[in-house]
Amino acid sequence: MTLRISTLLCGLLLATAAITASAQEVSARAQALHQQALVLDTHLDTPANFPRPGWDISDDHSHDGSYSQVDLPRMRKGGLDGGFWVIYTGQGARDAEGNRKARDHGLLRMTQIHEMLAAHPDTFELALSADDAERIAGQGKRVVFISMENASPLASDPSLLSAYHALGLRMLGITHVLNNDFGDSSTDKKGPEWNGLSPAGKALVAQANRLGIVLDGSHASDQVVEQLIALSKTPIVLSHTSAKDVFGHPRNIDDALLRKLAASGGVIHVNAYGGYLIDIPANPEREQALQALADQYPDESQLSEADIAAILKARQRIDQQYPARQASFDDYMRHLLHILKVAGPEHVGIGADWDGGGGVLGLANVGDLPRITQALLDAGYSDAEIKGIWGGNLLRVLRAVQAGAEPAGQSS
Ligand SMILES: [Zn+2]
Repeated sequence: MTLRISTLLCGLLLATAAITASAQEVSARAQALHQQALVLDTHLDTPANFPRPGWDISDDHSHDGSYSQVDLPRMRKGGLDGGFWVIYTGQGARDAEGNRKARDHGLLRMTQIHEMLAAHPDTFELALSADDAERIAGQGKRVVFISMENASPLASDPSLLSAYHALGLRMLGITHVLNNDFGDSSTDKKGPEWNGLSPAGKALVAQANRLGIVLDGSHASDQVVEQLIALSKTPIVLSHTSAKDVFGHPRNIDDALLRKLAASGGVIHVNAYGGYLIDIPANPEREQALQALADQYPDESQLSEADIAAILKARQRIDQQYPARQASFDDYMRHLLHILKVAGPEHVGIGADWDGGGGVLGLANVGDLPRITQALLDAGYSDAEIKGIWGGNLLRVLRAVQAGAEPAGQSS
């Protein structure tokens, strides 16, 4: 599938004007509740930015436009205490060479996350448990849980999961947008290959249970999600997924599966990826122009500030020439409120796909997060329910998963 840069290019170039407007819509009461809550997001793709030359998490990257949505200044502004920082691996060839590349990529990204932590000991800290998250946020630092999106780095040797666990991995997603050796994706045009999890995928579930790693069914097919719920001894999550009954995209899940997830104690974290929220009609000329632009920058890890500025300028030209429909904050809330009604507030969280294509008009970066708290108050949710949505529900699952681990897993 396409490189991450083209994924981002296909997303939105979000107007910064919307940010200023939104800040005025948050009441003092909502701000106070938001500050009090432990605010976690389950899908921060930000580690992909760590290797960019000159890029530092401590700097404000508003000038990057929607290309960069998470950094310390904007986390502070939006009251984001932290969350799960993702080791994302694009699905490559499923042969020895492809598996080796995926293995190296995963380990390199894990190392880069640790380098970021080592460089910022006063502001960021690795979290290995729910208690860690509460303690770290209580000290005013940012919480760094580590997750994996697409288990392909484990394809050649699934026992590597123990090494990842020792390095801090606490959440594991099975697939990305294509099928892999562990299971089926929700969006592979070839359709199901395993009818859910492969035998290796089922073994991986057992291994994750033993180690106390939360299983994540986002991107995986509905059959995989059903099997994860059935096979896992402890509840699972969907780290960034929206509602199929609001917009019928295969990447979203329907009400029946939502209810099953909730009944099993799991939590769905609602995604803010525009293409999964509303129907954006295909526009081949636009897509061609975006792909041509992406092809000019094949290595996203090497993008300089000048490259980003050039990309944003080219993006503006493409947006003017081939305008596309854009999802809005109201579209996001339609999914969130529907899911809250179907699953119940104890089974919902937030995973907006920041730095991975997420963000909508009016919710352009993590600085805008208090708007969600305001909208939840407006919809009648209680302070306790809103605190659960922002982090309590996630930590409940993490506690259950770690309590269910085998002693060796807990101590490693
Ligand atoms: Zn994703």
